[in-house]
Amino acid sequence: MLTMDDIVREGNPILRAVAQEVVMPPTHEEKETLKKMREFLINSQDDEIAEKYKLRAGIGLAAPQIGISKRMIAVYIPEEDKIHDYTLFNPKIISHSVENTYLEGGEGCLSVDREVPGYVPRHARVKVKAYNIDGKEITLKLKGLPAIAIQHEIDHLDGIMFYDHINKENPFAIPDHCPTN
Ligand SMILES: [Zn+2]
Repeated sequence: MLTMDDIVREGNPILRAVAQEVVMPPTHEEKETLKKMREFLINSQDDEIAEKYKLRAGIGLAAPQIGISKRMIAVYIPEEDKIHDYTLFNPKIISHSVENTYLEGGEGCLSVDREVPGYVPRHARVKVKAYNIDGKEITLKLKGLPAIAIQHEIDHLDGIMFYDHINKENPFAIPDHCPTN
């Protein structure tokens, strides 16, 4: 199983590299890697396992974060009525809303061992094309936290960290195109 020892931290150049497309169909090894990434997320959200193995809770993980510069991500977000459970190869945002959104509490990252305060602007809704673990092409339409998480993970495939998006002058400025309430 993956533990925090496997997680690459900021400062490692792999987090700033553009990751390679995965050739379809994926190899057995690539599929196993994606399964392990998903398993890490599930373990990290289980209080007992997380405590035992000292895992920081995460809802998303990109392959560069475990030292593999390939376009592979896992997202695991249990909600009341459904679980957003995605293991994807070559995810790509094919369209998005004009409306933006952000998390009130800012974002965190398993590769960043510090708090970085500020709002991270994200598209409120995204349509993502990807290949699932079996190498089948799929399209996802996401909003809310799953949309934010998938944008955070796809950014990792392009060498982008969440704090790159934070307004330098005023980290808590409401981003453009966010509805005011
Ligand atoms: Zn991250």
